[in-house]
Amino acid sequence: MIRSIWLPVSVLNFSVLLLSIIVLSYSHLVVAIAPPASTKHYVSELEESYQKLLFNYRKFPNKTLKDLLASPPKSSADNSLKAQYYLVLSEAYYGLAYPDKAVLNAQLALDYIDQASQPWLFHKIQLTLAMALDIQGNLETAESRATNALIWARELNDERLEVSALFSRGVIRTSLVDYLGAMQDLQQAYRLAPKEYQTKYRRDLTKGDVANSLALLYEYRNEDDLAAPFYEESVQHCRNIGDELQLSISLYGLGKANVGLGNKKEGKAQLQEALKLSEKLDDIQGVAYALRALASIEIKDNNLEVAESLNLRAREIFLAANNAYMLLDSARHLSIIALKRQQLDLAFKHLKSAREHLNADSMPFQKLSLDILESQILSKTGEHEKAYQLLLRSEQAKAELLEKQSSQQLHRLRTQYELDVIEGENQLLEKANQLQQVTIQSSRKQNQFLTITIVSLGFVVLLVLVMVYRDRKHKAHLEKLASTDSLTELCNRRRTIELLEEQIALGRRLETALCVAILDLDHFKSINDKYGHGVGDEVLKHFAQLSRTNLRKTDIIGRIGGEEFLIVLPGTDLNGAKLVINKLRKLVNQPIASLNLDELVPSFSAGLGLFDHQYDLETFLQKVDNALYQAKQAGRNQIQIA
Ligand code: GH3
Ligand code: MG
Ligand code: MG
Repeated sequence: MIRSIWLPVSVLNFSVLLLSIIVLSYSHLVVAIAPPASTKHYVSELEESYQKLLFNYRKFPNKTLKDLLASPPKSSADNSLKAQYYLVLSEAYYGLAYPDKAVLNAQLALDYIDQASQPWLFHKIQLTLAMALDIQGNLETAESRATNALIWARELNDERLEVSALFSRGVIRTSLVDYLGAMQDLQQAYRLAPKEYQTKYRRDLTKGDVANSLALLYEYRNEDDLAAPFYEESVQHCRNIGDELQLSISLYGLGKANVGLGNKKEGKAQLQEALKLSEKLDDIQGVAYALRALASIEIKDNNLEVAESLNLRAREIFLAANNAYMLLDSARHLSIIALKRQQLDLAFKHLKSAREHLNADSMPFQKLSLDILESQILSKTGEHEKAYQLLLRSEQAKAELLEKQSSQQLHRLRTQYELDVIEGENQLLEKANQLQQVTIQSSRKQNQFLTITIVSLGFVVLLVLVMVYRDRKHKAHLEKLASTDSLTELCNRRRTIELLEEQIALGRRLETALCVAILDLDHFKSINDKYGHGVGDEVLKHFAQLSRTNLRKTDIIGRIGGEEFLIVLPGTDLNGAKLVINKLRKLVNQPIASLNLDELVPSFSAGLGLFDHQYDLETFLQKVDNALYQAKQAGRNQIQIA
């Protein structure tokens, strides 16, 4: 019994075990087929020769550029190598401030690879292209490329590329006059960048590199006091590593900051050092920038001759490089010089030439400065009304611009806030998911438990049912045993008398006739003696079978003694009963086929009586028994009526 209950549970346990094995082996499979996270199949470092070139380029920019141009990669070279070549070329042009060539070469580099197979190189080139686009004035495109690279670098945990991306975007945002965004990026880049290069040649950005751009940003925000220390850090860093190209740029910035802070002498000296360095490096645009900065000092000092000549030299260079920003700037300066000299026509002429370099969309502040300059010239020519109107418009435009700028910053902040909110919601969702997972798991366990309980209960109920059924069957069997004769399967004496009593009661109520016969097999003792007890039993069984099949279903037959039987015939009168018993007697007077004993012909004697409701049962049965006795006396094999 206990086994039968535990069997299904162990089957269940087995299935759970089997399932666990399947799940475990599957998860093992998943682990086995997932590539190890550390393995990179793509380039994540520039070729050492290119690293060296970029390193040397800082000291000898023009020579390096020439060398690069002289040794393009072989046509049989690997595509990723070709891409790297154009990447380095683009950076070289960028360093020497050639926007178009820098953009073109970065785009060429991109042609050789695709994002899917070379993601690191792809984003590295995108950053190079972004910087080139920045000096070309394509600021929106530049920013989105830098942002994409930043997202990728963060996803891949590539901190070096992240610093590059933050740095690039900070520089681009500075150009976009998004000083707040630029500040966030550059400060983060500064924080993440290493203090020193990690290998000799690798041109990873260091704090010193970022410091220059941070300083430039402070300079744009007119915070020369904050700019100066970062320029100083950058200058120090460049002197340490011998990066003369960057040194000239940082010195230029530091000089301008010092001039702004009133340290005119110190600033001028730094600008002159920057000029000399740029001349030495043949960085002609560096030269032009320094000249232009020195010129503006001379303007303030009213050394107009010197200022003009410095400016003209600068303009020539910017013209050759097609540098729109600076061409506009130098034309504006020339216009200011002319204005100071009261050469109003010349001032207008330079102003007009400045406007030719103006792209009003991407240079709103430059437009403003030109408008203000024009109003100054107009007032000098006596056109006060026109000058006033222009100044008024400029002031309005300036206010709008500042408002737009701050609303853009506001928008950016709001976007950032919304991203944070979404991120927060995502985290919440994730937590909810985890919670749900736990709930599902526990409910799964509960379900498992419930299933086991239900199955077990089912078995218990089934068991009880079986037991009840068996008990009833057993009881019925016992009852049958108690009321049945085992040899003939007829009712035994006790049961026969019970049934007879029931029929008498029924017959009394329905007022129907009821006959009773008592039969006794003749000379049975001698059958036993002659053929054995077994044959005697067979004769008893045969008689029982004959009487069962030849009496009505409603008739009752029972074995009331060894070879003595009682037959009740309800609803039958005496004549009818006599016919029935006589018919049975004739059937019994036949040899039993199965015994194969032709000489053995059984017979019985019977007493028969119609029950009279005046008598009690015992007296009636005695009368019938007496009739039986008379039948025996009269020679057996016959029926006597009581
Ligand atoms: P009579 O014609 O006067 O009835 O003679 P009898 O031999 O039938 O009567 P008696 O009462 O002297 O013998 C009855 C015998 O029936 C005695 C007993 O051995 C036998 N007998 C009773 N029950 C069984 C039984 O279950 N199986 C067998 N084989 N014989 C039985
Ligand atoms: Mg007898
Ligand atoms: Mg007998």
